[in-house]
Amino acid sequence: MTTRVWDYLPEYEKERVDILDAVNTVFESGQLILGASVRNFEDEFAAYHGGGRCTGVDNGTNAVTLALEALGIGPGDEVVTVSNTAAPTVVAITSAGATPVFVDVREDDYLMDTDLVAAAITPRTKALLPVHLYGQCVDMAPLRRLADEHDLALVEDCAQAHGARHHGRIAGTMGDAAAFSFYPTKVLGTYGDGGAVLTRDDDVDRVLRRLRYYGMDKRYYVVQLPGHNSRLDEVQAEILRRKLRRLGEYIAGRNAVAERYAEGLADLTGPGGLVLPSVRPGNDHVYYLYVVRHRRRDEVIERLRSYDIALNVSYPWPVHTMTGFAHLGYAAGSLPVTERLAGEIFSLPMYPSLAPSLQDRVIGALHDVLAPR
Ligand SMILES: *Cc1c(COP(=O)(O)O)cnc(C)c1O
Repeated sequence: MTTRVWDYLPEYEKERVDILDAVNTVFESGQLILGASVRNFEDEFAAYHGGGRCTGVDNGTNAVTLALEALGIGPGDEVVTVSNTAAPTVVAITSAGATPVFVDVREDDYLMDTDLVAAAITPRTKALLPVHLYGQCVDMAPLRRLADEHDLALVEDCAQAHGARHHGRIAGTMGDAAAFSFYPTKVLGTYGDGGAVLTRDDDVDRVLRRLRYYGMDKRYYVVQLPGHNSRLDEVQAEILRRKLRRLGEYIAGRNAVAERYAEGLADLTGPGGLVLPSVRPGNDHVYYLYVVRHRRRDEVIERLRSYDIALNVSYPWPVHTMTGFAHLGYAAGSLPVTERLAGEIFSLPMYPSLAPSLQDRVIGALHDVLAPR
């Protein structure tokens, strides 16, 4: 059987009764849009984060866009972020009408290099948008200091970091707003699309609720633009309520998979060898992805194919090198660490229900390819 980098079917097998009950609960509720399930999920998701407000939206990309818009960011404004991210982070900035500005990432953990942010701030900068990539948090203290000093909004992209902690604080509670995706593969994923924005600012939350609902507070009357139809679906919200109760189990399962990789692959590391994920001090990683690195990445992936092991690269193209972002004017070589990483990283299968036997096949095949005996 071909291993997959991600597979929801073993989880569905276990949770089928609960998931189908969630669907039925909504179908029988008599309210299919913005009903009790969305409201309850919003309350429960905020409570999971120790309070504040949550607005459910239709996906993670629009969560980023609406968060920026609700904080007053739009055309003419610059938002400092990274190019080593899922492209939607950057698409969302442009959808808000703002201009993305990239800083490079750190060589050890692939996260925003916060030492480079001050130099990227101009009079037009209005927000910092760190991405808690692969499941661990960016160092937030220096960003908070810069945001306060320059009067900038601080928005966390938490699409890959549900439940991750940073010096004990949970991802999504350290900025002015935080955007989440519930795309199926995510640490808290649903059976379709979904997203949310968290904030502790009631005024920002009020605007978010308008922006996801055409710009209306009540039916048929537009109060404020830019309006969108970006509602979280009632069925997805009810599924998310059920899955939120198991988020701790999912995170523990992912950490168990990561530990098994770390033990099984330790002998392949060393100079010129495989580089395993490095966890920043103070971070509790949730391992959305298990990203490793090798100088002969493409060859390794090619040879693993004959073992029926499918691997993924997240992400093969730095955002600033894509034609869709050519107008931003970043030359090749302008973000050297990001560009080097894109040619060397790859992701091993990672999901909480990954069978140890499948995982051991991956570990064994990597040994055949990298340390043939
Ligand atoms: C998945 C993801 C998004 C986009 O979420 P969607 O729900 O797919 O729109 C944004 N940012 C990051 C970092 C992501 O991983």
